[in-house]
Formats: sequence, C-alpha cells, structure tokens
Amino acid sequence: MRIPKLIIVVPCYNEEEVIESTKVQLLQLLADMEATQLINKDSCILFVNDGSKDKTWELISLFHKEEPKVCGVNLAKNSGHQNALVAGLTVAKEISDITISIDADLQDDIKVIPEMVTKFSKNNCDIVYGVRKERKTDTWFKRNTALAFYTVMKRLGVKSVYNHADYRLMSKRAVEKLCNFRERNLFLRGLVPLIGYKTDCVYYNRSERLAGESKYPLSKMLNFAIDGITSFSVKPVRMVFGMGVVFLLIALVIFVYVLHSLIVKNNVQGWASLMLSLWFIGGCILIGLGIVGEYIGKIYIEVKDRPLFNIQETLLNNEE
Ligand code: UDP
Ligand code: MG
Repeated sequence: MRIPKLIIVVPCYNEEEVIESTKVQLLQLLADMEATQLINKDSCILFVNDGSKDKTWELISLFHKEEPKVCGVNLAKNSGHQNALVAGLTVAKEISDITISIDADLQDDIKVIPEMVTKFSKNNCDIVYGVRKERKTDTWFKRNTALAFYTVMKRLGVKSVYNHADYRLMSKRAVEKLCNFRERNLFLRGLVPLIGYKTDCVYYNRSERLAGESKYPLSKMLNFAIDGITSFSVKPVRMVFGMGVVFLLIALVIFVYVLHSLIVKNNVQGWASLMLSLWFIGGCILIGLGIVGEYIGKIYIEVKDRPLFNIQETLLNNEE
C-alpha cells in the first residue's frame, strides 16, 4: 500500500495566543512521521479560520509564506466549530488520503496521531476515534454535565462514542460520505457513527488549554447539547405524547371525584383541584409545544437549505 498523505484540520476561532505553538508542535510531528514513512512528504496542516476577530488569520497567512506545509482556509464569518470543521474537511478531502481533526489548543494529545495512522494503514480502519481516558482536568461541573449528556443520548437511542469529541482520523471516502449528509444542524459526533465502515479507538489523556480561554461557554455548550439531542431523536416528542395521555387519565380521575363530591355532599366542591389542574395542564401543554416547536424549527432550517459556510480565501500549496 502506498504511503498516505495526511492533512491535519484545525478549526481556529480567536486562537492567536496558541496558534504558533500549535503549528510548531504539529510540524514537528509531521516531520517525525514522514521520517518513519508513516505518512508521505506532502502531508500538511490546514488551519480553518472561523471568522476570528483577532490576528489568527494574519498569523496563518504568515506561517503559510514561511512554510508551505502550513495551509489555510478563511471563512467569511464565524460559522461555529462544527461548520468550520466540515469546511476544512471538504477542502482537505480533495487533496489527501486521510484527515485528522483536532482543536487548535491541542488539549487532545497529539502523541496518539501515529497510532491513529497505523490503524488506518495496517488495520484498514476508515475512522479512528480519539477517546479520553478520563476527565481529571475538567471542572466538576463540566465532567458531570458531560456524563449526563452521554447518558441522555444513550437513553434516547443516539449512537455516539463515549468521551470522544471531534478528535478523529477519517479516510478520504469516509469524509466524502460525511459530506453527503446535507443537514444544517450539525452534530458530527452523532453523524460520523452513521457513516459505517471499519472504526477503532485510540485512548489518551486530555490536558489543560495552553493559553487563552475556552471558546465553548456554557450557553454554546447547552445549544450544542440541545442540537445533538433534537437532531437525532424524536423520542422527546413521543414522551410529550405519553405525558399527554397520563394527564388525560388524571383529569378523568379528577372529573369522577368532582362528580362524586357533587352527588354525595350536594355542594360545589373541587374548585381548588380544578384550578390546580387547569394551571398544571396548561404548563404541560406549553412545555410540549416548546419541544414540538424545536422540531418544527429544525424542519424550517433544513428546508431553507442554506450553505453551511462561505470560503473567502484558500491558501494551498502551488502544486495542488
Ligand atoms: N472554535 C471554532 N469556532 C467557534 C468556536 C470554537 O472554530 O465558534 C474552535 C476553537 O478555536 C477550538 C475548537 O473549536 O479549536 C474547540 O474550542 P475550545 O478548545 O475553546 O473548546 P473546549 O475545549 O473548551 O470545549
Ligand atoms: Mg479546548
């Protein structure tokens, strides 16, 4: 089998503080892997600038001038991590045999990349997931919300790899298949397992962010989790339906009780229980409507079929 060409895809949003160190470490890794003939000498890094407001793109352009192994894609505006990743993969799949996606802060251990490539070359795996051994470096809150999220996803029947973020190797054909998913609400961790092909995992310890702040504040994390759940499962709607049936039964019982007290005690009773149930059911209907609305909102966005990203510029090696 010929030696594969690897492109490491790195989405970057306001990463001026870490990007230089990331570039140095990844270039060193590429050099080491080329020396052992794990990857071919045309392998490179593809930074995707996701509409950063700082000097990230200026730095990428500078690195590209100094070192042709550093390539870049500049998105016209901030499109979000998942869209930036797909933008990078879409460009990379045309000119590579394998891609590896990794966050710009290199919290995910790059030492397992050779192992990922070996699993592709020797074991014919099309997808190799980077999986965290533990979450020691995370705060109590992040660790437990993540755990709750994976548990809910599993209960709802969504296939996803536990403790795997978007650090993974994908073969050219796997990326091509991923690009066939035309949905707008992207949750790659749920989509990639739907591709099929042979997969494997490599395990690593995740370290702290080198510098700068997390680009995933709580609000973005929550949106991402809601996207993940509602894009892949209609069980919440069914649960609302089930709840509706239960509440109708309760209403029936209350109705019987009110009738009974009217007949037996001959006075108007049950006012409190009626009022209570009115409010209670009203609340439930609103919650149900909210959930149904979430799905209708998704249909609306899908039907509009907007482009996921707009590439403003592309920096690639001349010979490609
Ligand atoms: N990112 C992006 N666009 C965004 C937000 C984040 O491309 O709108 C990138 C960011 O530059 C980083 C990766 O997504 O490479 C993950 O972000 P971060 O490391 O801040 O997330 P955390 O590790 O805290 O979950
Ligand atoms: Mg990070």
